[in-house]
Amino acid sequence: MAEQRVKWVIGNWKMHGRLAENAALLQAVADGAAAMADAIRIGVCVPTPYLAQTQALLSGKSLAWGVQDISTYTHGAYTGEVAAEMACEFGATLAIVGHSERRAYHAESSELVASKARRALQAGLTPIVCIGETLEEREAGTTEAVVGAQLDAVLNLLSVEEAQRIVIAYEPVWAIGTGRSATAEQAQEVHAFLRARLVQKDASLACVALLYGGSVKPENAQVLFGQADIDGGLIGGASLKSEDFLAICEQAKVASHAH
Ligand code: PEP
Repeated sequence: MAEQRVKWVIGNWKMHGRLAENAALLQAVADGAAAMADAIRIGVCVPTPYLAQTQALLSGKSLAWGVQDISTYTHGAYTGEVAAEMACEFGATLAIVGHSERRAYHAESSELVASKARRALQAGLTPIVCIGETLEEREAGTTEAVVGAQLDAVLNLLSVEEAQRIVIAYEPVWAIGTGRSATAEQAQEVHAFLRARLVQKDASLACVALLYGGSVKPENAQVLFGQADIDGGLIGGASLKSEDFLAICEQAKVASHAH
């Protein structure tokens, strides 16, 4: 489709950070992001206890923030859960759902992830829906079947209007936190497959942002973001260092001008 899609760079801090180091990181990222905000979308998904700090430091800045998971419920007897509405009260606009660490360590099914995506949308958050295959699944040649089913679970639950507002992050599990990124060709192949699957549901879904995640670094961001169907990145480890995160944002900006 000829329509220009904007590039995104979203940080996933995971369970890292403390008040003092967060302040320095958020300040540095906000300062660096200011010059790029017209060209790309930049955000950080922080541990929930630091939402208030993030809101205080980023309000009025050209950087979005969000959480790394939400409950499927609005309120109730769900000890330890955080409602999307609670995150919204602290200015969050983003919610990662279905990260492979939650699928693996908290037994989250694709159906649960889909209902979290819908809950995020209903609260006014943009869900960043993570999907991806394990190494065993890739080696068995089932990558498309696995990520296709993970995507279908979301598309089956959402209306087309809702699906237009999601972001997908393709994160091969074997590339997360391992230092072993997918090659640009491997990532592009899966992104093209996912885009075709979206279009099969409705032509308007061609514009859904498809981010790549898995050991993105300043050194490989340019080639990844230069691929036709890669609309930016979800960044784990490298989002904890402002210079690395901003260097990755810079590559997204360069790639967005190149298209
Ligand atoms: C992630 O956790 O979403 C991720 C992509 O991590 P890393 O960049 O560290 O591989």
